[in-house]
Amino acid sequence: MELLAQTCKVLYDKRWLDKMKEFDTLKRHPMIKFDNLYEYFNKVTNFQTNVKNKAQDLVDDDNLFQNLHINIEWLNDDIPFIKKLHMFLKNELLKMTNNTESKWCAATAIITVNSIKGALKGLNLCSRVFKNNVRDMIICVIFAIFSTSDKYQCIFDKISYMECYTCKKLVSNILHMDKLICETCIKTEY
Ligand SMILES: [Zn+2]
Repeated sequence: MELLAQTCKVLYDKRWLDKMKEFDTLKRHPMIKFDNLYEYFNKVTNFQTNVKNKAQDLVDDDNLFQNLHINIEWLNDDIPFIKKLHMFLKNELLKMTNNTESKWCAATAIITVNSIKGALKGLNLCSRVFKNNVRDMIICVIFAIFSTSDKYQCIFDKISYMECYTCKKLVSNILHMDKLICETCIKTEY
């Protein structure tokens, strides 16, 4: 009996450790290296253009939009409109991270789609659900999560790294003076 208990504990610990490892990979975010700011902005602009086009295409499809409209009070992940948006986002994130972080991309796509579902339910509570409203709501949520930095970095800023001209470290908090210099170096030198 005691032996069995010991074996169970070992098994339990192994499962626990495996689970912890899994969480660890999820917790870590991708690091994408860029040589300069131009390269970074190019990639972000490309993402934003794709988001705008996709949101327009989705609302332009009458069947998809009608189905979304009917189900707006209880949006679930099997609704074709939501499904297509989810697949699109996951693919765009894979592109953004050069296909290196599929777990992170999948998890981040889910969080984003959940935010959009919440925003669309909210839209229905306070306004009429028109194609343009839905399109703009989707674009606003995605841009705010990925590409608009305020006091805290947006996701793309957080995962993008460039080499600081002064300290030569790869950093995500680069500021553009005449050269690429990180926030820390700017505080100490200027
Ligand atoms: Zn530096």
